[in-house]
Order: sequence, then structure tokens, then C-alpha cells
Amino acid sequence: MTSIPAAAQSGEHPNRTRARAYLARFRVEPLGHFIAGEATMGSGDALFDVTDPSNGQPLGQVIAGTDADVDAAARAARAAFPAWAALTGKQRRAILHRIADGIEARAEEIAFTECMDAGQPLRFMAKAALRGAENFRFFADRAPGAQDGVSLPTADHINYTMRQPIGPVGVITPWNTPFMLSTWKIAPALAAGCTVVHKPAEWSPYSARLLAEVAHEAGLPAGVLNSVNGLGEGAGRALTEHPAIKAIAFVGESKTGSAIMRQGSETLKRVHFELGGKNPVIVFDDADLDRALDAVVFMIYSLNGQRCTSSSRLLVQRSIHDAFVARLAARVAALKVGDPLDPGTEIGPLIHPRHRDKVLSYAEIARAEGATVAVGGGTHGDAGTFVQPTLFTGASATMRIAREEIFGPVLTVIPFDDEADAIAQANDVDYGLAGYLWTGDVGRAHRVAQAIEAGMIWVNSENVRHLPTPFGGMKASGIGRDGGDYSFDFYMETKNIAVALGSHKVPRLGG
Ligand code: NAD
Repeated sequence: MTSIPAAAQSGEHPNRTRARAYLARFRVEPLGHFIAGEATMGSGDALFDVTDPSNGQPLGQVIAGTDADVDAAARAARAAFPAWAALTGKQRRAILHRIADGIEARAEEIAFTECMDAGQPLRFMAKAALRGAENFRFFADRAPGAQDGVSLPTADHINYTMRQPIGPVGVITPWNTPFMLSTWKIAPALAAGCTVVHKPAEWSPYSARLLAEVAHEAGLPAGVLNSVNGLGEGAGRALTEHPAIKAIAFVGESKTGSAIMRQGSETLKRVHFELGGKNPVIVFDDADLDRALDAVVFMIYSLNGQRCTSSSRLLVQRSIHDAFVARLAARVAALKVGDPLDPGTEIGPLIHPRHRDKVLSYAEIARAEGATVAVGGGTHGDAGTFVQPTLFTGASATMRIAREEIFGPVLTVIPFDDEADAIAQANDVDYGLAGYLWTGDVGRAHRVAQAIEAGMIWVNSENVRHLPTPFGGMKASGIGRDGGDYSFDFYMETKNIAVALGSHKVPRLGG
């Protein structure tokens, strides 16, 4: 643990004192961009504020990147691309492992930064920072094989495929677990041989600067990873429209995905979208109900419910509904809401007052729709953007609380009668990211898993990730898959090379 002098404010958790010290640098001057290996204030003079969601206090200001700043970053990425792509996979592997080392060395600073500007509890952010390092190590080890292809011989030709990096890419990330998500997109891009311009979310910009610094210190050549801060409709739009940027990897809301598709159409951008969700967790009456209950609570109330794979719809079989929901309500009411920097805290503040108000509005919507607000539904405490962990019961599949992504610590419970009813309700939404099901019947597990319209299904499990597996959604939840080789499919072009064996005759034209 590094020793950081900082005056503690009365009654605050010692971790908060340390976190304020880590972030003090961002109060000295506004945060700018990181372009071509250097921190720069760029060309803009518009600033936006970043606040601590725990108390509404300012953390600092950020310079909104302009079209010219995005252009400078895209040019830097284009200039750095040939040399980075020409390195061997082993050379890239060594650098990416050094980045992972750097992340581990600054893991506390990264985790505390996420707690301060995203409001996520430390008990989850400590792991998320280390998962960022794991993402780099995983894709580092795959870099030497990234270009591998297949051989498809015929009688007269040898066909073989190889993959080559697509070029400079744009990565646009949201504010929930920003560091981990950024590494999940950036690490495979770099391993593939692409260069990157990253546009972090405006509500949680700080950990992206830490990543840029770590990468620079690890010896990543200048221009290979650039970071431009700014608003979505400003720097984000400019990135998606820039002709030097060949592809956009985007994580965020479905409607922003649509906008990016429109913006990128002129320059024929390849897009990869990880979007919203309204993921069902289905609990059958033959399930291990104790474990199911733990998973139901964990998968919506961890990370403040601000998690794309959260199970925000509980479909529970009618025969066990009342007993299961009574136990669930007791658990929800007992969740510990508080300072995200206190390791005992289970639920921190939501990211921003605007988002808090959106989440709170669903309590009114629930009542108006005829559902019951069984637990919570209001704010918590006097300061900050805390929302009570909330449970809606008596809901039906047609209600907005059962169809729309709320993205907070809010769970909607809906009863079902049988397997067919469960599948029909699970699929009756626009989204299709993840699904969870709990049953003791192995045949049913497979039947239901295959029938649910979602990119990822967990059976008798919460969201446990294995990095080589495909991650992504169907329907309005996304386009494309991440993870393992799937990430390289996006960041690389597959080329076929056909070499004649000399045994065939070329058709003769022209006499
Ligand atoms: P958002 O779509 O509002 O913003 C995400 C990013 O896009 C931000 O950096 C923003 O500045 C940028 N942006 C906004 N408008 C843009 C535009 N016109 N052009 C280019 N960039 C633009 O999302 P959010 O509110 O920050 O994040 C929450 C959403 O992210 C939720 O819907 C959640 O489900 C989703 N999410 C999905 C996954 C997944 O893997 N499927 C993971 C995490 C979050």
C-alpha cells in the first residue's frame, strides 16, 4: 500500500481519504486528452464537471474534446498503425503483459477512482480493476496466434486464410464499470495489431486516463492508444465519422448504437455493439431455491444494478412464488447501502442525478401500472444519488417495468405457470443479452436454454465468465461477440490467398 498523506474529513471511511488523495491531481487542472503519447489540453475550451455521486461534490472538470482533437488522435493512431501491426505477436504480447503488470501495481488507485467517480462499491471494483489486468494478460497470450487462419486445399489450388488487423479503431465506453469494460475492448484490439482512439464516458472519465498512463509507462509506442474525452454528440460523434477510423467498438445504450450506425454509415464503419438488456432469471419449482435466491439477489443488486447482464426480471414459478418472493423481499430490505469506499457496502450511489431520477421514476410507473412496490422505491439518505434497493411484485409481462431497461438496483417479479409460459415471457422483450435459469431437471435446462432468445445463458449459475467464450447479445442487445477469438474476428480482416499448383488451365480469352 502506497502512503498518501491527506487530511481525513470527520467521520469518513479511511479509504475515502485515500481516494480523495488519488484524485486530488484532477482538481489542480482540468483533465484533457492523451494523444500521440502525451497528455494534452487539446483545442477546446468547453469544460464539463465530474461529481462524486456519494455527495454531489465536484471531483474536477474535464475538457470536452473537439472535432480537431479527435482528428489529431485519429491521425496519431493512423501514423502509429504500420509499425504496431508489423511487430510480431510475441513482441505485442510482451508489451501487453507489462500493461497488465502496471494495472496490478496501480490496482488500488484504479479501484478507488471507480468508486469515487462511478459510485460502484469497492467490494466489486477491487476485483474489476484486477479483471482489467486479466483481460490484458488473456489477449496478450493470444497475440502470437491472432493472425492464424485455415488451409482449404483443392485439387489445383492451395487456399489459405490469414487475419490482418483492420487498422485504427474507435472504442466508445459507458460509465458502468468503466475501467474493466475499456480493457475488455482495448486489450484485444491492441493484441490484434490495431491502434486505438478511446472515448470514455463523460460521467466517469478518470480511470481511462490511468489506463493511458499505465500503457505509456509499459512501453506502448506513442499513438497506439489515444484517449479523447468529451460528450457523446461531440467527440463521440466525431470519432464515429472519422475516415481514418475503420471500426467502432461500442458499449452503451441501444439507441446510441442506432445513432452510431447512422453516423458511421458514410465511412462504412464496421461496428461491434454491446447494448442494453432486460435479462430474465427463471426460477422453476424444482430448483435449489437457496442457491437460486443468492443468485437472484447478486445478479441485480451487485454493481448497483448498473450492469448490462443484470437479471432485472425475475420469472418465478407460481407454485413457489409467494414463499420465494417473501424470502427475496427480506434479503432486499437487508442490503447495505452506503459509501462505496467502505468494503462493507453492498449498494452505492447511482452514477448521476439524472440517472437516479430515471430509476426513481419507475416506482411511479410501477404503481400506475398496478404493480406493487414491495421494497424500496425511494431515495436513501440526504446526500448523493442513493436509491433504495427496490423490488416490484405483482407485475405482468406487458408492463413497462417488465420491458424497459431501468439500469439500477430494481427487480421486477413476474409469476409463470409452466415451461412454455416461462419461455414465452422470457422472450417477450426487445432485448436479448443474457438469461439465467434455475432448475433441477437437466432436460428442461437444455430445452429452456436453447429456446431463450439471448446471446448468453447461465444454468444454475450467476454471471461467471470464461474469457474464451463468446460474450454478446441478440435482438436490441447487440451486434457481434467479444471474447477469445471472437474479438479478433472483429478487429481483424480475414484474407484468403489462393495459390495455383500449376495443374489447371486458365480459360483463354481474346483469340
Ligand atoms: P450511452 O449509450 O449513453 O453512452 C455510452 C458512450 O457512448 C458514452 O461514452 C457516450 O459519450 C457515448 N455516446 C453517446 N452518444 C453518442 C453518439 N451519438 N455518438 C458516439 N458516441 C456517443 O450509455 P451509458 O448510459 O453510458 O451506459 C449504460 C448503457 O450501457 C446501458 O444501456 C447498458 O446496458 C449498456 N451496457 C451494455 C453492456 C454490454 O456488454 N451489452 C455493458 C455495459 C453497459
